[in-house]
Amino acid sequence: MKNNSIDEAAQIIKNGGLVAFPTETVYGLGANALNPFAVAKIFELKERPTFDPLIVHIASFDDLKTLSTDVSENVMRLVKHFWPGPLTIVLPKSSIVPDIVSSGLDTVGIRMPNNPIALDLIRKSNCPIAAPSANKFGQLSPVNASHVKKQLPDVDYILDGGNTSVGIESTIVSIEGDTCQLLRPGFITLEDIENALPNTFVFNNSKPGKLVSPGLLKSHYSPKKPLYILNDSIRNLPEYSGLILHGGNNSLYTAQKVIYTSQTFNKIEITANLFASLHEMEEDESVKTIYIEPVEEKGLGIAIMDRVKKAAYQYNNSSN
Ligand code: AMP
Ligand code: MG
Repeated sequence: MKNNSIDEAAQIIKNGGLVAFPTETVYGLGANALNPFAVAKIFELKERPTFDPLIVHIASFDDLKTLSTDVSENVMRLVKHFWPGPLTIVLPKSSIVPDIVSSGLDTVGIRMPNNPIALDLIRKSNCPIAAPSANKFGQLSPVNASHVKKQLPDVDYILDGGNTSVGIESTIVSIEGDTCQLLRPGFITLEDIENALPNTFVFNNSKPGKLVSPGLLKSHYSPKKPLYILNDSIRNLPEYSGLILHGGNNSLYTAQKVIYTSQTFNKIEITANLFASLHEMEEDESVKTIYIEPVEEKGLGIAIMDRVKKAAYQYNNSSN
């Protein structure tokens, strides 16, 4: 990796290049959001289908008003409550946002990340930065710089900010009048949003298998080896299995390798360690199949199981 300089990275963004950078959620693959040629390189490097829109990252509240034509009171309430932080808000887009960013939709997803390197990079680049996660399309999200290098060795620059703190992608909502729909569960839960918008109807429209937002496919975030969710009918694991537990009893199974994301089912710890544990199993050549313990689908557990089910989907549904 080259020197870890935000100034150099910002120069690359200004010149229309790509920079992988840390946010509090996962590492992003960034380009100048207002330069369609730069943004096109993101789709090319990630092998991401162009129907899957990108999230635009900003560092000042003023940018919200230049990127969107309609910043309502409810939007401002959410912004004041959760930004900088892991919440993306889908808003009507202004004409300066190129179509390639929003996959031709008339809306754009915007977020202010809570990471000093990300915020400094955006400020020094002097433009909003469009950034999906810095991985090949469909594969595991990167939560440190080595995960980025593994999947995108040809990226122009990687800013190394250590491990991300949250560990999964942002919550996504869209707001129309007095209705707020959750499009993708994340670290900020439905209950958090309800508390911030007491007079608004907030509902979860992100049920598994329902395509509420382009790009939210059933299969996503997958490791390169089979992944199965533990259930009562699984009594013994096959040879060379990797077992990811969140506090459950290790002695019930014999596995080649065991990783605990948490000792106590602490959902914040599980979230922070989820992708790192899947990467570690993916990289360990002695592991051929991965098994992961489920968590209760309540609160943050909804976002955890959303990622786990999508990661396991292709290995559990042979028709896909
Ligand atoms: P990521 O791949 O984590 O960067 O997240 C991008 C996701 O945000 C996409 O796959 C969409 O599901 C969602 N998204 C981005 N922009 C929009 C939009 N304008 N309308 C609806 N969903 C969006
Ligand atoms: Mg992604």
